Amino acid sequence: MISGIRIARESDEARCSELLGILFSQEHEFTADAAVQSRAISMIIRNPELGRIFVGEIDGVVQGMVLLLFTISTVLGRKVALLEDMVVAPAWRGKGLGTLLINHAEDFARSEGFGRITLLTDRDNDIAQQFYRAQGFSPSEMVVFRKLLDDKTTLNNSASSTWMCRECGYLYDPAEGDPESRIKEGTPFGEVSSQWSCPVCFAPKADFDPFS
Ligand code: FE
Repeated sequence: MISGIRIARESDEARCSELLGILFSQEHEFTADAAVQSRAISMIIRNPELGRIFVGEIDGVVQGMVLLLFTISTVLGRKVALLEDMVVAPAWRGKGLGTLLINHAEDFARSEGFGRITLLTDRDNDIAQQFYRAQGFSPSEMVVFRKLLDDKTTLNNSASSTWMCRECGYLYDPAEGDPESRIKEGTPFGEVSSQWSCPVCFAPKADFDPFS
């Protein structure tokens, strides 16, 4: 029985990360990395000004999630949201949980004064597209462009080079690595995942500069 939709708590991090793993194994552009996903989930849960994660429980177990990330539209002159990571555990699809989640996210966005929700889905995922159309979304004529910003990793990659976080001054020392993010001792900065972020302030890897 669907017991309801609620905002995710820190205790939901592991389950949300699992659900993201299911989603990314289906999407063409992404690969699953549990540590990376947990970090992202944790970043949102601990920084509610950035967005909200909504989870749907069935018999007390989280079986679906969706998240809204907050930004601003200069066209609308108001807050808008990006809807991301809509996923329902495979065994519970087609039972209305996805609709409940997306309706809940939309109600939240309306009540908080947001003017628009934007989402991306795979071009060839007809089922997802039908679902979003049924929820009142329509395709945009815009084309998505992306650029990954991790090219600094090639600049200074000697095994002992330390790198400093521009935001908070945290120093990444290869001798220590970052055990909490499963980066082993002796890992040069250049070999740290581009998805890694500062363990202190969560600034992305791209915000680090060579220090020594
Ligand atoms: Fe930092």
